[in-house]
Order: sequence, then C-alpha cells, then structure tokens
Amino acid sequence: MCGHNGDETSFVLHDATDEDHINAIHNIVRRDVWEGFVVGTTATTASSARGRADDTGGRSTSRLERYAGTIGFRCRFCKGAPPGERAEKSAVYPRSLERIYLSNIRFQRDHIMQCNYIPPSIKEEYTRLKNSKGVTRGKKKYWVTSAMRRGLCNSDDGIIFASSAVVGSSPAVVVAATDEKRE
Ligand SMILES: [Zn+2]
Repeated sequence: MCGHNGDETSFVLHDATDEDHINAIHNIVRRDVWEGFVVGTTATTASSARGRADDTGGRSTSRLERYAGTIGFRCRFCKGAPPGERAEKSAVYPRSLERIYLSNIRFQRDHIMQCNYIPPSIKEEYTRLKNSKGVTRGKKKYWVTSAMRRGLCNSDDGIIFASSAVVGSSPAVVVAATDEKRE
C-alpha cells in the first residue's frame, strides 16, 4: 500500500481504529495535519524540511542527505508554502518508531497554532480539546504498533518502509531502490 515514487509519495498514519487508542488531541495531528513522506535529496523535499528562511547554507542540505530514504512527517497544509512562511517544525524526522510520539508532541508545541496554513476549524478543535478535561490519555505503544502496520520499521538511519529494509539499511541503497530522483 505504501508505494514510493519519489517526492509525491505520502501516506497518513491514521486509520479508523486509532480513535480507541490515541488521545483525541494527538489524533488531530495524525489524521488531519501530518503526512508521512520519504525524504529525498531533491530541492522540493529539501525546502519542505526547513522551518526558516534564514538558515540557508550547507547545514540543512547535509542534514537532509543524512535523512535521505528515511521517513519524515510534515504539515500537509504548509508543505507547498515558501520556506520563509512556514512555522517551526513544519517537518519532523523521528529517529525511530518510538520517537514518532515525541515528534508529535514537539510538532504540537511549535507548529499547530503558529502555522498560518492550517485551517481555523482544525485549530479551534485542537484548542477545544486542549482545554477540555477528561481527554483520554491514549497509549504510547500504539504509535509504534500502528506505524508498523503501516509498513514502517526502524533502521540504523531512521524510520524506513519495511519493504526497503530487504535491500539494506544504507540511505543511498534505499533511495536507489525507491526510484528517488538523484543527480
Ligand atoms: Zn503548517
């Protein structure tokens, strides 16, 4: 189900059974805001990974090369916006399945209310849930098991599609195997 054909590939973590296992606040991120994608080395993806316009230079480029072929999660609303107009953490790169949960917490803290592209209806729902008592806590472990059901797994370099794992864990090999555009 998770084919990867370059930069256009994206997927959603959420599925219907999440509602029973995931805190409703977190579900907004999983269901309504995040899209998962394979990090490429093309300019399109490179700009998606940047939160600010002013941190140009080699740093973000080399950072992305390190992540190439692994899975990141980005805000689907501002991914096409100019880098300078995106709020912090418009994309996150958890190093393992266990860290997706933490990335989601940081994304909520730094991005949701700051992003000018997320529709007001989503922000209102988010704020309402944040302020309401009695929201169930959800299960952290479910973030891992549900990601595995989506076909994701850990590698030495980060999260990858399990189907990529058979060809090796080197990012270069993974990228080659998934037809990512390379120069
Ligand atoms: Zn955004």
